[in-house]
Amino acid sequence: MGCESCSDGSCGSNNGLPPGMLEKYRLNTDRSDGFLVWIETYVGPDGNVAVSEVCKEILCKIRSLDNGRSRIWGVVFGHTELKPLYPEIYAYGVETLYEVHDRKLSKYHPEVYAENIAQVIIRTEPAVVLFGATPKGREIAPRVAAMLDAGLTADCTDLILEDRVLSMVRPAFAGNLLATIQCTGFPQIATVRPGTFPLGEPKEDPRGTVIYWQNCGGTLKDIVSSELKARPTDDISKAKILISLGAGVKKESIPIAESIAKRIGATVSCSRKLVEKGYFPQSRQVGQSGRTVAPDIYLAFGISGAVQHLAGIGSAKRVVVVNKDPEAPIGSVADEFIVADADKVLRELDKIV
Ligand code: FAD
Repeated sequence: MGCESCSDGSCGSNNGLPPGMLEKYRLNTDRSDGFLVWIETYVGPDGNVAVSEVCKEILCKIRSLDNGRSRIWGVVFGHTELKPLYPEIYAYGVETLYEVHDRKLSKYHPEVYAENIAQVIIRTEPAVVLFGATPKGREIAPRVAAMLDAGLTADCTDLILEDRVLSMVRPAFAGNLLATIQCTGFPQIATVRPGTFPLGEPKEDPRGTVIYWQNCGGTLKDIVSSELKARPTDDISKAKILISLGAGVKKESIPIAESIAKRIGATVSCSRKLVEKGYFPQSRQVGQSGRTVAPDIYLAFGISGAVQHLAGIGSAKRVVVVNKDPEAPIGSVADEFIVADADKVLRELDKIV
C-alpha cells in the first residue's frame, strides 16, 4: 500500500499507520457472519445506568432483517452497575454480551472503547457492526473502522440485508436524495440515526451469555471526562410535544420557550442555525444532521423549513407553524400556519399556559 512518499509501500510508512497495523487487524472474511452492536449506556435521571434507546432500536431492526435468525453479539463497557441491564439487553436480541469489565471504563474513553471493540470484532468475526449515531457512537465508529481497515457508513436511515451483504441507506447531497451504500469487505460498519427504527417488543423469556472481557485497550489516558446526566427533557426524539425554535426567534425568547415547555410537558428543540449560534447543544437539533423526531405536536417558531430540517419531522403527527412569512417552505408540511411574530406569540403563550 502506497503513501505520499511511495506508490508501493516500499518506504514502510503503511499509509501513515504504524508498521504491521493493517495486518494485525486483517479479518477472515470467509467466516464473517452475524451482527455486533455497541451497547451504549447512560446515567439516567434516577442515577441508574440505562441502555440507550437507539441500541434497542438497532437490535429490533436486526431481528426484523432476517426473522431473528442472525447471531447478535453486544459489547458493553463498565462494571457491576451493568448487571441489572442484562435481561433487557438479552430481551432485545443479544445472545452473547461481551462486557469489557473495568471500573474505570464506566467512564467514557473513546480510544480505549474503540480498541476493545476492534478486538471483540476480531474474536467474533461479525459481518456487520452497528453503532448508534450518537455523539459517542460517531466518535468511536470511525476509529474502529480505521483500526480494521473497514468501510463505515455514517448516519444510516435504513438497512437491508441480503445474504451477508448489508445495503446501508443514508441521505446524501444535502438530503435531496438517498444513497444506498455497500462495503466491499467485512466487517460492514454503520452508525444508525436515533429514532429511525421503531422499538419492537422485547422477548418474553430473555436468555443470553455474558463474557467478561479484560480491557485490552492499553493504558487509560489521564483525560478529564465529564458525563452529562441525561434529563428526561433532553431526548427530543422521545418528546410528545416539541417547541422548536429557529433563527426567526430572538435569543431572549429561549428562556420563555423553556418555561412554557416545562409547564405543558414539552421539550424545546431547534434548527441547526441555533446550534451554530451556540444557543443549544447538537442533541437538541432536529433534522438530517440532528435528530429525527416523532412528536404528537411539533410547534415550529421562526423556522423556514429547509429540506434538511424537514427530513427530521416527517413522523410528527401535527405540525403547527408560527412564521412571519406566509410563503415559508415549512408551510408545505404545516397542519396549521399562524402568520405572526414568533417572539410575540411566545410572550402571549407565556401569559396563558
Ligand atoms: P432560516 O432559514 O434563516 O429561517 C428563519 C425563518 O424565520 C424564516 O422563515 C423567516 O421568515 C422566519 N422569521 C424571521 N423572523 C421572524 C419572526 N420575528 N417571527 C416569525 N418568523 C420569523 N438545518 C436543520 O435545522 N437541521 C439539520 O439537521 C440540518 N442539517 C443540514 C445538513 C447539511 C448537509 C446542510 C448543508 C444544512 C443543514 N441544515 C440543517 C441547515 C439548513 O439548510 C438551514 O440552513 C436551516 O435549517 C435554517 O434554519 P432556520 O429555519 O432556523 O433559519
